[in-house]
Amino acid sequence: MNKSIAIVIPSYNEATNIDVLIQALNETIININYNIKFIFVDDGSSDETVAILKEKSKEYQHIYYLELSRNFGHQNALKAGIDLVKNDVDAIISMDGDMQHPPKIIPKLIEKWEEGFEVVYTIREEDKKLGFVKNKTSNLFYGMMNKLSDIKFEPGTADFRLIDKKVAQVFSDFTENELFIRGIINWVGFKQYAIHYEPNERYSGKSKYTLGKMMRFAVQGITSFSTKPLSMAIILGISLSVMAFIFYISYVLYSIYYGHVISGWASVITTVVFFGGLNLVVLGIIGVYIGKLFMQSKGRPNYLISSTNYK
Ligand code: UDP
Ligand code: MG
Repeated sequence: MNKSIAIVIPSYNEATNIDVLIQALNETIININYNIKFIFVDDGSSDETVAILKEKSKEYQHIYYLELSRNFGHQNALKAGIDLVKNDVDAIISMDGDMQHPPKIIPKLIEKWEEGFEVVYTIREEDKKLGFVKNKTSNLFYGMMNKLSDIKFEPGTADFRLIDKKVAQVFSDFTENELFIRGIINWVGFKQYAIHYEPNERYSGKSKYTLGKMMRFAVQGITSFSTKPLSMAIILGISLSVMAFIFYISYVLYSIYYGHVISGWASVITTVVFFGGLNLVVLGIIGVYIGKLFMQSKGRPNYLISSTNYK
């Protein structure tokens, strides 16, 4: 029996990219001796995405759509696709729907999987095409992630990878509210292999990850994999207390030696504002974790399915 592979593609307002992507994928899979299906997950698009997907799924037998009830975000959309097919295929490839992940890499992913690797992930070469800001923010992001959390992240990894059925089934059981899939895939272990590639430009349309969204994603990633920011708050608190104590002792000694001294208002106000700010920052860090607990405690599903033609 031919082995089967599903390619899962989260798509949010990608109407102008679907045609090109399907064409490129079709050309790629002609030479692959597997039973391959495409699962397009429509993440609550407001353009023609769903209509086009429904049309394409009638035209081609190997194309399926999964329509979510609203926009749940890239990570949840990807999970929806993986959950849908995890029991029917031998491996799952995930990629973006905007042509940034070149389909020609797919045969390489499969080759490594055949060699026995259970996760074949990709690393994007730093590229001028991506733009200075995206490259820099991406590097900053991974630098911070590695400092602040307990697992190693490689710069340039995105959600373009192949996972074996085994990994997909394990992953499917994760019910984390704020999914950070590349972190989870790193965390689960198994035999992993990295492939380097040069990304393309987005074929058309705009990136849905604005700077604000990327920063939120970074905070989600860090706080999902580590409580280090909380212990940093303790260390900060202790160091400041020790500093204040030393300052107090020196001040007392100074007054005994030189007689009473009157300190200036400016320094007092600066200190009050500084520590006020610091208190708020630390409270904010604690707040982020409490917020996560709150959202998780509701146990809401990661996504809701509106319709699909799968099976
Ligand atoms: N995406 C999604 N839901 C969202 C935002 C994005 O499914 O809420 C999809 C999008 O259609 C694309 C992929 O996630 O296939 C990556 O998004 P994008 O290209 O905007 O991000 P970038 O490549 O700029 O990081
Ligand atoms: Mg993109």
